[in-house]
Amino acid sequence: MSEYKDLNTPARILLGPGPSMVHPRVLSAMSHPVLGHLDPEFLKMMTDVQELLRYVFQTDNELTIPVSGTGSAGMEAALCNFIEPGDDVLIGVNGYFGERLCDMAGRYGAGVHRMDKSWGDVFSLEEIQRELDMRSYKLVALVHAETSTGALQPLEGVASLVHDNGGLFLIDCVTSLGGVPVDIDKHGVDIAYSGTQKCLSCPPGLSPLTISERAREVLHSRESKVKNWYLDMSLVEHYWGDERTYHHTAPISMNFALREALRLVQEEGLEARYTRHRTHAEMLWDGLNDLGFELYVPEAHRLPVLTTVSVPESVDGAGVRRQLLEKFNIEIAGGLGALAGKVWRIGLMGYSSRRENITLLLKAIQDLVE
Ligand code: PLP
Repeated sequence: MSEYKDLNTPARILLGPGPSMVHPRVLSAMSHPVLGHLDPEFLKMMTDVQELLRYVFQTDNELTIPVSGTGSAGMEAALCNFIEPGDDVLIGVNGYFGERLCDMAGRYGAGVHRMDKSWGDVFSLEEIQRELDMRSYKLVALVHAETSTGALQPLEGVASLVHDNGGLFLIDCVTSLGGVPVDIDKHGVDIAYSGTQKCLSCPPGLSPLTISERAREVLHSRESKVKNWYLDMSLVEHYWGDERTYHHTAPISMNFALREALRLVQEEGLEARYTRHRTHAEMLWDGLNDLGFELYVPEAHRLPVLTTVSVPESVDGAGVRRQLLEKFNIEIAGGLGALAGKVWRIGLMGYSSRRENITLLLKAIQDLVE
């Protein structure tokens, strides 16, 4: 038998596309003794989590919960509860996660209609309307913050086009929630899911999900059963609703962590938090420009919390990333899919979004490329 030593993880500075660094208060909350999932103290805590989630989402939606599972579980829940075989859905594909939405929607039997744009671009209202003119859709999905490209999709005005067409408006806000305004109710979003490990600075493991009353009616008037038992919100809602009846065992420690992470968001205040992310992003962008790098996404729709940097031919992009990790303990990421080998992806999310991290990263990159 091998000898297995004590776990000894390096103290990384996480400046990639997630997970981001976790605040010590969140780590400490996770180490509290585990409670039963129907313990009155845990049931009270669930209410806190739901209220705080409504605050970060900026919604009054009653059905607002942390789905057990990572962001992809939220994505799956957002689709499987509303799609019945043969339903037409429209999905904006301008990066890796739009592709994933298409793949998942197809698996639930949807007629998937893609609205394609090059990676790094975003969709205009005219482009969306043009697609809507072709037919009516049960659901229209956009990725708010495309982590593969660093583009931020504007949400203003989209919901009214989708609602006029008779459908539900779904957004992926895995990388935006808690870092840039999402404002679910203001934007008329019907279904939105996120992840804990990005701007909320909690470990990966839960997926905040919010569902409007309009979408909930669609769920309750389905003709067929939801094709996924674990993520069937018509069942899960009885655990997270007034009844608090067992569906599956909630990941207790992760919910402790999320509650603390959300408390930190509330203490900072959403507006202050958005300003911090924006200010630090601008500091990074200026520093990279000073070092001679070009940013991949035009400033007009550049995402503050995840920056894509074009890697010049003269620079060994993978080599620099390796050395950042080995010599400086800093993690950044390379490109995904169509951008593999072409860009670095630098995240400044939640607790990672601090001035000292930017100063260190810029100095380290300068040392390695000069
Ligand atoms: N959607 C977006 C925009 C993401 O960035 C990610 C993960 O990076 C996901 C969905 C999937 O989330 P997870 O990897 O937590 O399952």
